[in-house]
Amino acid sequence: TRTPVNVTVTGAAGQIGYALLFRIASGHLLGADVPVKLRLLEIPQGLKAAEGTAMELDDCAFPLLRGIDITDDPNVAFDGANVALLVGARPRTKGMERGDLLEANGGIFKPQGKAINDHAADDIRVLVVGNPANTNALIAQAAAPDVPAERFTAMTRLDHNRAISQLAARTGAAVSDIKRLTIWGNHSATQYPDIFHATVGGRNAAEVVDDEKWLADEFIPTVAKRGAAIIEARGASSAASAANAAIDHVHTWVNGTAEGDWTSMGIPSDGSYGVPEGLISSFPVTCKDGAYEIVQGLDINEFSRTRIDASVKELEEERDAVRGLGLI
Ligand code: NDP
Repeated sequence: TRTPVNVTVTGAAGQIGYALLFRIASGHLLGADVPVKLRLLEIPQGLKAAEGTAMELDDCAFPLLRGIDITDDPNVAFDGANVALLVGARPRTKGMERGDLLEANGGIFKPQGKAINDHAADDIRVLVVGNPANTNALIAQAAAPDVPAERFTAMTRLDHNRAISQLAARTGAAVSDIKRLTIWGNHSATQYPDIFHATVGGRNAAEVVDDEKWLADEFIPTVAKRGAAIIEARGASSAASAANAAIDHVHTWVNGTAEGDWTSMGIPSDGSYGVPEGLISSFPVTCKDGAYEIVQGLDINEFSRTRIDASVKELEEERDAVRGLGLI
């Protein structure tokens, strides 16, 4: 029998946590043959609700679920962790300045990064979902100097999946016919969904669409503002699709991308495509044997360059702000 994989989820009692935990426990995160132990981290006010969710997890009698621990101590939550999903974050509230938001999140992600540094397993893989995800990931990574930097990633897979779905709808193709889509930059309104290297049924997506105005005025804003559109329609945020994307991100990282395809992940830049080294920015990546690699050699046209640069500039501003606050 396999040793269970320790999966730590922060903000476990929140909306995304509720949509996420049952799928981890049923084998969708790592594989249908991989047993898991769950560690739920919450703030003290969230512990009781997390216990309720744990009761429901018990009641599912998931064959792969080998235990659930609940704690408000990051040192306990990340002890021996193999996978960490950092979901809990401080949301922006009305009238809150960006600096206040970054500072509040620094208070969460810095100690969590240190706890990961001191207690996680050697193969720890971290996905940050809580916003501002890229910069929260940077804060956690900076606090974990003994962990290889590339183990800290931020989620742009929801943007990736949204872009695939929009492109499929426009072209009448099945989502499974769309490959090589890329999200560049920050998980924010400046993100850039790039179809110039994507394919639809094997044909170049930009040529199939052949409509730059649709790209600029419909596709990109629809993908970037999808979260707000869902809040408007549902009266609640897109928690289930965010949880699904977190599952996809880790599953692909661990189990690999399909031959001839790639995915999008927010990862520490190695300087590729002119993105300053160390920034946690979204790139096209292939995954194999539990590691990812940036897809190299893509030709970046003027349309794409302007948009990638704008999103990267925003990431640099966020980095400078957290540096100014002494968080990195
Ligand atoms: P959610 O579970 O809905 O969201 C959690 C985080 O995910 C937010 O930062 C949110 O950002 C982000 N997010 C990323 N993508 C999406 C998306 N597509 N849709 C919605 N959110 C997205 O928040 P809740 O308020 O329901 O729950 C948060 C939980 O975290 C609470 O239970 C709280 O107690 C806990 N918490 C735990 C901490 C810890 O463990 N140390 C620290 C802080 C909070 P955005 O808000 O910008 O949309």
